[in-house]
Amino acid sequence: MRILFALRQRGVTDTRVLTAFERTDRAEFVSEAFADRAYEDVPLPIASGQTTSQPSVVGLMTQALDVRPRDKVLEVGTGTGFQAAILSRLARRVYSLERQRALSRLAREIHARLDLANITVITGDGSLGLPEQAPFDRILVTAAAEDPPGPLLAQLREGGRMVVPVGVSDHMQQLVIVTRTAAGYDYDDLKMPVRFVPLVEGVEPG
Ligand code: SAH
Repeated sequence: MRILFALRQRGVTDTRVLTAFERTDRAEFVSEAFADRAYEDVPLPIASGQTTSQPSVVGLMTQALDVRPRDKVLEVGTGTGFQAAILSRLARRVYSLERQRALSRLAREIHARLDLANITVITGDGSLGLPEQAPFDRILVTAAAEDPPGPLLAQLREGGRMVVPVGVSDHMQQLVIVTRTAAGYDYDDLKMPVRFVPLVEGVEPG
């Protein structure tokens, strides 16, 4: 399959991640107008002026997150829920926050249609995290922050890991891996430039 070839070429070697992609049809997550491009390794437009990420970027971020089967994962920036669907194949439970109500609604519909019962999509400001479900074993942010948001750092379990694109929006950002240790936080740069839409505060009605 075309996406799997692109993933391998970009360095996704984790067979669990590759299997998760194999089991998830990206065409379900894009509008019909773009369905014929769903298997290309490119970002594609979705509703509300947003984009669904390039599959190889989803793959590399998922691989870097190193999700284990018993993990409770938080995603920030659901979009139409493709990344959440990949995570749901690898983790016990996925919570995903989206600030645009129209998108969270759409993502819920798609996940229900695909019987992905371990994902909960919530409309909310992801920069605040989800304190009522914290701590999380893994946190994946799919919008760019100038710094890893404090509330998300606080909601990471000790030994837990967060992957977040850090940098000024409209520029290339760097993927940062944050690990919470007993003593504090360790930061590691994945040396992989990415370009995400900015993490915007507050919830968009509609
Ligand atoms: N993860 C998605 C791609 C997301 S694009 C995928 O799998 O395709 C980034 C998303 O982050 C957009 O839908 C945008 O509305 C959302 N977003 C931006 N700021 C946010 C915030 N503070 N809280 C929650 N979602 C946010």
